[in-house]
Amino acid sequence: MFDLIIIGGGVAGMSAGIYAARSGLKALIIEKMGLAGQLSEINNIENYPGVVRTDGFTLASEMEKQIKELGVEVQYGEVTSIKIENSIKTVCTKNNEFQAKAVIIANGLERRKLNCKGEKEFFGKGVFYCGICDGFFYRNKTVTVVGGGSSALTEALYLKDICEKVNIIHRRNEFRGEKILVDKINESQNITVYYSSVVKEITGDNIVKEIIIERDGSEETLKTDGVLVSIGYIPQNEIFRDIISLDENGYIIVDSNFETTSKGIFAVGDTIKKDVRQIVTAASDGSVAAVKAAEYIQTL
Ligand code: NAP
Repeated sequence: MFDLIIIGGGVAGMSAGIYAARSGLKALIIEKMGLAGQLSEINNIENYPGVVRTDGFTLASEMEKQIKELGVEVQYGEVTSIKIENSIKTVCTKNNEFQAKAVIIANGLERRKLNCKGEKEFFGKGVFYCGICDGFFYRNKTVTVVGGGSSALTEALYLKDICEKVNIIHRRNEFRGEKILVDKINESQNITVYYSSVVKEITGDNIVKEIIIERDGSEETLKTDGVLVSIGYIPQNEIFRDIISLDENGYIIVDSNFETTSKGIFAVGDTIKKDVRQIVTAASDGSVAAVKAAEYIQTL
C-alpha cells in the first residue's frame, strides 16, 4: 500500500510528488501517456520565476529527474475509477489496482475539438493540435491557427518562424490571450488575423488545402497547408463524479488546501475550478496538496 497516489504526471502531479517524497511519503504517480503532460507542448516559457527562458520539454525533464531521485514510483495506465473503503482509497486503472491512504488528482485537461466538417477527416493530414510536435512538417508553408487564447497566440508565434505565412482565425473581435503575446502577434510581419470569424469547414483531397470561414455573414476561402486547432481544454472528471463534487463545467471543487469534498482526496492543477491556469500555479497547487495530504495521513 502507498501513502499517496497521484493521478497524473504533469507539472501539478510532479510537484506533488516532489513534496510528498520530501515529507517522507511513499508515493506513486499514475500517468496515462508520459510524464510532462501539456508542458511537453510548450516551446517557450518566459514566466516561470527564476528561469528567464526555457521550453516545456527541458523543464519537464528536470522535474522528472527530481521525482526519480527522490524515489517517487511511476506507473503507466489510464485511471478508470477510485473506490473508497473506510479510509483506504483504491485507484483502478484498466489493468491494475493500487491502494493508498490519500489521493491527489492531477489529471489536467483534454483538448477541445472544433467539431467542424473536415476536422476529424483531415486529422494527421493537415489538421493538428500541437505546433511544437508537428510544426516542423509545415516549414515554409502556410498554417492557419484557430483560437484566441494564450495557447493559440503562443502557437502562432512559434509557427511564424517556421512557416512562410500564418493565419489566425478568432471568433471574437479581440484576443483573450496575454497582452504581451497580443503585442508580439501585432508586430509579426507574416501573421494575418481574421477576427470575428468562424470556421465552417476544412477541405482538401488527401491533405488539407483550404479552410472556409464565415466573416460578417459571408464565406471566405483561405488557402492553407495546415490547420492548428488551439481552442482550449475541457476537464475529464466524469469518472470521479460519484465520489467528489464537480462544478457545472466539470472542474473539481476544492477548498483552500486543495482537498475535494471527499476526505483524503485532493485535486490540483488545471483540473480544478480556478481562475488562473499557469505552470507556476500548477506547481504551487501540487506542493500545498502534498503537504496537506501528509498532514491528513498523520491523523489516520
Ligand atoms: P483559453 O484561454 O480557454 O482560450 C481558448 C480560446 O479558444 C478562446 O479564445 C476561445 O474563444 C476559443 N474557443 C473556444 N471554443 C471555441 C470554438 N468552439 N470555436 C472557436 N473558438 C473557440 O485556452 P488556452 O489558450 O488553451 O489557455 C488555457 C490556459 O492556459 C489559460 O488559462 C491560459 O492563460 C493558459 N496559458 C498561458 C500561457 C502563458 O502564460 N504564456 C500560454 C498558454 C496558455 P473566446 O475568446 O471567444 O472564448
